Amino acid sequence: MKVDKNHVIKCLRQIAVLLELKNENIFKVRAFTNAARILEGHPKDLAALVETGELEKIKGIGSGHISRIIHELYDRGESKDLDELSREFPASLFDLFQIPGLGAKRIKVLYEKLGIKSVGELEYACQENRLLELEGFGARSQEKIVQGIQQLKKSAGHYLIHVAAEESKRLATYLKKQKGILKIEVAGSIRRAKEVIKDIDILVSAKNPATVHEAFVHYPETESVIAHGDTKSSIVLKSGIQCDLRTVREDEFPYALYYFTGSKEHNVAVRTFAKKKGIKINEYGLFRGSRRIVCKDEADIFEKLGFHPIPPEARENTGELELAAKREFPKLIEEKDVRGIFHVHTADSDGLVSLDEMIDAAEQAGFEYIGVSDHSQSAGYANGLEPKRLRLQWKRIDALQKRHKIRIFKGIESDILPDGKLDYSDSILAEFDFVIGAVHSRFNMSEKEMTQRILRAMGNRYFTFFGHPTGRLLLGREGYAVDLVKIIDAAKKANVIMEINANPHRLDLDWRMCQYAKKQGVLMSINPDAHSLDGLNDVKYGVGTARKGWLESGDVLNTFPAAQVEKILKRRR
Ligand SMILES: [Zn+2]
Ligand SMILES: [Zn+2]
Repeated sequence: MKVDKNHVIKCLRQIAVLLELKNENIFKVRAFTNAARILEGHPKDLAALVETGELEKIKGIGSGHISRIIHELYDRGESKDLDELSREFPASLFDLFQIPGLGAKRIKVLYEKLGIKSVGELEYACQENRLLELEGFGARSQEKIVQGIQQLKKSAGHYLIHVAAEESKRLATYLKKQKGILKIEVAGSIRRAKEVIKDIDILVSAKNPATVHEAFVHYPETESVIAHGDTKSSIVLKSGIQCDLRTVREDEFPYALYYFTGSKEHNVAVRTFAKKKGIKINEYGLFRGSRRIVCKDEADIFEKLGFHPIPPEARENTGELELAAKREFPKLIEEKDVRGIFHVHTADSDGLVSLDEMIDAAEQAGFEYIGVSDHSQSAGYANGLEPKRLRLQWKRIDALQKRHKIRIFKGIESDILPDGKLDYSDSILAEFDFVIGAVHSRFNMSEKEMTQRILRAMGNRYFTFFGHPTGRLLLGREGYAVDLVKIIDAAKKANVIMEINANPHRLDLDWRMCQYAKKQGVLMSINPDAHSLDGLNDVKYGVGTARKGWLESGDVLNTFPAAQVEKILKRRR
């Protein structure tokens, strides 16, 4: 077996890092980094050094422990020491080393103090401002880390919906300023409000398409141009996202928009339906024989095919065509239906702004009510509220309520403890208007244990919402193992509201499960889980998820007027 010298060097460095993570003697750590450096700078290849015994004579490597490991790596490609050390830490922890400015020492702090094991978890921790008070970190380093993570994601090729949607909006605004634009629309998975996006599809019809393509490839945010054509061009943005521009004739626009919105699965299904009616459908039109059926917009296309129009978000071929064929497709919830918001954090726990500022902002945004829910007492990582500070917050809310029109509900995001208890005694829980139960620890339980843990917590009559039901962080961390069907069925029985966490990192409950929950008649709520004023804007992504899950306003608690909401919050008491 011939082992690459670079592999050996990499392994030696890895051992150094692991020793440092383990808090080993700094001289021992340095011995490995030095050996790696020496090997790297040595002109001879590894085979020559090992076979001749020259290796042992090199100063800084010697005949001890390190040369033994190099021999082992040379012979077998692996090392027992490295394997044993590796097993002590989660593999995903090593991804953190790719973030500029993070070395073993600081990663150790993140791991030990905040339990961070992956890049996704770190990004979320930054979003919740966990690094501000952490020893050796602070506002500046948190910001740098966030930038570093963005950089890292460039190469990964997947983007969260808010990142892609914002990029596409800026690009579309830029294109709209070009002369002769007749129609422009962002199509593809962004239009369908998918939770994770691969690329941006923009569709344009214009008087002079060539100038639009010209402008497109010269968009200031362009990193590189992949293709520059008359009907299709592709660029890669500085953020790493690929964007495709297609130009079509104005009379082709509705068909092209429908086609390029997808999903592929939906398009295939619709083609099959159309065929039965003797109609051919593609990006250029709807055809009976060679005659094109004229459609003025997408809704018209659906009507001409005999369907109730299906909104883009619902075009995933999960049964929407069957309903639309019977003209039974529901009227989906819209952003303007949302009257109030639950699940908002303030600086009393880990939010960025004060209670007063949050209330002001929500009122100015036009919400009728707001449910404040900071973290509970066990959440030491998030400055959770013990009863004494809770009472102070309640007093301040009472005072604020006197000065505000917006109805303020007093709540809490209570940790669901590993044994299934909530984080306060019932006498304290009884004083909240609502309680969001959520899992923030011990994610590694078996599915059975985790499901039991949650079901037990839901059994508490003060448990109102089940927050971010799987704990997933999109592109960051898989959800914990849990039997969601059981949970949703139990939620129906116990009158527990299922949260659709609208934070684009979560979008949890997933839209696929929303469809199931709706079928069971479970009430849901679109909650921003805001940790800053900006976070209030995330409601729209939750609405996108709800629409993908076919929800109507009647399925969603926070579309109801305050008085009705108040009654529903009390229905288990
Ligand atoms: Zn939470
Ligand atoms: Zn929260």
